This record gives sequence, C-alpha cells and structure tokens, in this order.
Amino acid sequence: MVRFYKTWHTGDEPVNDPEPRFQCQSGCTKCCEQPGFVYLTEEDHLRIARYLGMTARAFQKKYLYRTRNLRRLRIPRQAQCIFLEKTGCRIHTVKPLQCRTFPFWPGLIDEKAEWRATAKWCPGIDQGEPVDMESAETQATEMRAAHPHLYR
Ligand code: SF4
Ligand code: SF4
Repeated sequence: MVRFYKTWHTGDEPVNDPEPRFQCQSGCTKCCEQPGFVYLTEEDHLRIARYLGMTARAFQKKYLYRTRNLRRLRIPRQAQCIFLEKTGCRIHTVKPLQCRTFPFWPGLIDEKAEWRATAKWCPGIDQGEPVDMESAETQATEMRAAHPHLYR
C-alpha cells in the first residue's frame, strides 16, 4: 500500500505529518556540491567502471580511496565530486546508490529537523507531488544495508 505521510520522531511522541513533498529540480547539482564523501558499494564500483570502459582495478586506482571496510570517491581540489561537470553528473545513468537515493536517506527521512535543514539547500524539497513514503523508506533501507558503517 502506498502511504503519503510520514511519522516523524520529533520527541517522545511520533507525529504524523501529512504529505512531505519532493521533486528533483532540473539542472540542479546542489547535493553534489555539499561537503562530505560519496561512498560506493562494490556493485557501484563495478557498474561505474564498466560504464567508463575501465577495469575495476584501474577505476579504483584513479577514483577511489579504499580501506578494508569502505570505498569512497576521492575528492579533487577544485570540486566536491570528481564526476561533477558543468552539465551535471558525468556518470548520471550509473551513479552510486548514495546519490540515487538522496534525499531518502536514513536519519534524513526519520528526523523532521534533518529534513527541514536539508530543505534549506535542496530546492527539490517541498516541490512536486507528495512523497510515496513506502518507496522512500525502501530506499533508506537499501542505503542502510549498503553502508552500515554510516549508521551504527
Ligand atoms: S539538491 Fe535536491 S533538487 Fe538539487 S539535484 Fe539534489 S536532490 Fe535534486
Ligand atoms: S557521483 Fe554524480 S550524482 Fe554523485 S555526487 Fe558525484 S556528480 Fe553528484
């Protein structure tokens, strides 16, 4: 069943808040310009390398910082993301799960204060149709499962 409301946990009591809305804005790259890291799953790594015609190893050498538990994109000197170009994301069609699921991240959709804080710089929040919260929560679950180190 599709739900169009969110139960925010703003205090001791959950509060039903009808119809949070979101519509990504054409030409906007604000989320790609925010400070922070872009983490990749193994699937992201292999998919993007394939898209760029590179081996996984060559892609890792050129674009990734990697430890035993995580892999993330290196941050270049002049921009926040190495794949952010004037025309948008160079790897848009195969972008990482983290980018694809924004703004439906755990913590962000669970906390009204976080959602409102994000609305200050993401012009897509409060635009368009009401969010299908079931789908949003599925994406948040996917994000949590893919990057457990972010949500301990
Ligand atoms: S900041 Fe918001 S509106 Fe802009 S591209 Fe990212 S998700 Fe879309
Ligand atoms: S990979 Fe693409 S969508 Fe993700 S932060 Fe970089 S430019 Fe933005």
